[in-house]
Amino acid sequence: MSVAACGKTSAKPVPGSRSGASRLCRSPHQEESMKIRIDKPACVGNARCAAVSAELFPLDDDGYIAVSEIAVPPGMEQLARRGARACPERIIVIEEDVAKS
Ligand code: SF4
Repeated sequence: MSVAACGKTSAKPVPGSRSGASRLCRSPHQEESMKIRIDKPACVGNARCAAVSAELFPLDDDGYIAVSEIAVPPGMEQLARRGARACPERIIVIEEDVAKS
């Protein structure tokens, strides 16, 4: 059994959550989402991310990543994770359970 910072308990971690605690303590008015952050200046332009999802990882005319921050639409979380893993430069960071306000 895990105990969250707010004192609520859970028999097992919430799937997809690192600890399960953040979901237990979140206000019912907040939604969770995923964000991608990319160290754009470090991109070498090999397009591995775009090969996974051109929609999530748009490239500029020269083949480099065109954005530094992406809000992942619901249902595209797995593609986001795969795209991050595909980057050989390891410059794509996934931020899970980002609360929308
Ligand atoms: S996989 Fe990484 S280095 Fe390659 S284009 Fe995408 S962000 Fe840039």
